[in-house]
Amino acid sequence: MADLSRSDWRFRALPILAAAFVFAACCAVVALSLWREAALRDADLRSAETDVANMARSMMQHAEDTLEVAEATLLGLAGRLEQRGTDAQSVNAVQSFLDSRATSLGRIRGLFVYDADGRWLATTENVDISDLNNSDRAYFRHHRSNDDRKTFLGDPVRSRSGGQWIITVSKRFNRPDGAFGGVVLATVDIAYFVRYFAQYDMGPNGAIALLKDSGILLARTNDDGSLVGRDMSGTPLFQKELRNARTALYHFTSPLDGIRRISAYRTSDRHPLVVLATQSETDVLARWRSGAIFRGLIVIVLVVGLLVVGFHLVQQLESRQKMALLLAAKEADFRLLAESSSDMVTRIGLDETLLYVSPSALTVVGWDAGRLTGTSALAGVHRDDLARVKAVVSQIKSGATEETRILCRARHRERGTVWLESTLRVTRDSASGAIDGVVAITRDMTEQTDLQARLADMAATDALTRLPNRRTFEDRFKAEWDLGAAGRTGLSVIMIDVDHFKAFNDTYGHDAGDRCLEAVAEALTSVVHRPRDLVARYGGEEFVVLLPDTDAIGCETVAHQLHAAVQALRIPHVQTPPHYRVSISLGGATTIPGTTETAAALLKSADAALYVAKRAGRNQVSMNSRLGCAA
Ligand code: GH3
Ligand code: MG
Ligand code: MG
Repeated sequence: MADLSRSDWRFRALPILAAAFVFAACCAVVALSLWREAALRDADLRSAETDVANMARSMMQHAEDTLEVAEATLLGLAGRLEQRGTDAQSVNAVQSFLDSRATSLGRIRGLFVYDADGRWLATTENVDISDLNNSDRAYFRHHRSNDDRKTFLGDPVRSRSGGQWIITVSKRFNRPDGAFGGVVLATVDIAYFVRYFAQYDMGPNGAIALLKDSGILLARTNDDGSLVGRDMSGTPLFQKELRNARTALYHFTSPLDGIRRISAYRTSDRHPLVVLATQSETDVLARWRSGAIFRGLIVIVLVVGLLVVGFHLVQQLESRQKMALLLAAKEADFRLLAESSSDMVTRIGLDETLLYVSPSALTVVGWDAGRLTGTSALAGVHRDDLARVKAVVSQIKSGATEETRILCRARHRERGTVWLESTLRVTRDSASGAIDGVVAITRDMTEQTDLQARLADMAATDALTRLPNRRTFEDRFKAEWDLGAAGRTGLSVIMIDVDHFKAFNDTYGHDAGDRCLEAVAEALTSVVHRPRDLVARYGGEEFVVLLPDTDAIGCETVAHQLHAAVQALRIPHVQTPPHYRVSISLGGATTIPGTTETAAALLKSADAALYVAKRAGRNQVSMNSRLGCAA
């Protein structure tokens, strides 16, 4: 019982479980794709971080290389000027040297030599230097006031000779006495860096920037010169990041455009330089984003499809379950009705096997229901009724009729032959509607059938004489008339009346009258022998004899035999002189049915003959000669 309710619970929970499974599958698909997209996004970001870090490293390398080239040249120039002084001859030699280098400077835009007052002594630029003085420049003032010999990287300035933005790299040289001798200067075009940076694609919102460690911007990708020299020391890079680490990677949201960026910066070990490489996350993730949208759409279609199919399946499951529960309830109802009925209820398969037998089988056929289940439904049917029952069963199985009733004899285990009445009804498969069997409700009709037979007998027989009554005679007469009409053979009728019977009653009493009538009936019956002959009580003390296939001669013969049979009874009757015995008068008539005569006319004719016999003195036979009978 516990198992039953547990499996019942499982059965009922099936649609909910199926719906939960579909929902979980959808969630899993969504979660997996979200997880995968997050992983892909992360991988793209990590790769971009590596890219910007590598970019910062290689840009710094490039910037350092550039400054080292300038530094080496300046070192040579400064050494030469310190050795040889700044007299005209030495300056000429330096100018010649610079002229010779002018065409092969590479990254260096120009080289300059200034004396201790800032006057131009020599340059690679092709300008008149006689009136030019650079003592106002920051680098000049720096060297003049600082006696260290280190290379000085100046802030970007506009070239006095060319007008473009330049970076200055300068060095002090001394006089032989150690006093300030002047400055040697190399310039690098900021445009050179900008061009170099432009070779690397950092995306529409990315950039490479070269700054001084003081925060002054030297060069930036795509800068037309408007940003050069801008002081960036107030930015988070200088305020925060650089204070923590000289080289690092960080993400930040730009306060200018609100774009989130990945940045790598690097500080030079040898020069006061900072390189910053940035890429916007939007640019980095652009490819991932378009792929993710495409993949997301596929996932949405998949999930929606899964939900639609799942919903449909769950609905199907639910309706099937409802049907199954309904069927189970119907089955339970069926069993309840079947098992509480006194009728035997059976379910019969298409192969005529008993699939179910109700307990009433024990009373109806004397067998235990369990013993009958699995056996043939026709096993107990009486041999004489089997063909008829089989015909009815095959007719109902063919679907010709939904319900039928059949009365047949069957074998009861203890009581022998019994009359059973079965109501048969087809059952159909609930899904396909095809006939899948028959349900039979069977009851014992033996008593009713016997009673019916008795009633039919009573209705057809006269109670006193046990002879067929007038109604039976009329039915038989009509049937024989029709038969005779078909075969064109003679049909005879003899009407019989007991003579002076009223007087008999009056003399001997009514009971004696009854005995007399019984005796007459028996005597009449003893005369006719052919199976189709009929002796019936026509009413009161009147009898009628029906003789099929009998011509007028035969009819008359039988009439005389009948007369003789009654005479032979020799029942005393004091009122009938001269013989004082009970006698009868007979009127016979014969015709061939189907000719001009009617059945009623034949009877009337026999009656007329009887009347003639009565009139002629009774106790005699009269044949209706008009119809071919001789009296
Ligand atoms: P007839 O020779 O002219 O036929 O004279 P009848 O007296 O026989 O004729 P009637 O028709 O006058 O009388 C018939 C009588 O038969 C009347 C009735 O009392 C009697 N009878 C009819 N049926 C029965 C019956 O079942 N039992 C008895 N005991 N008498 C019957
Ligand atoms: Mg009479
Ligand atoms: Mg009479």
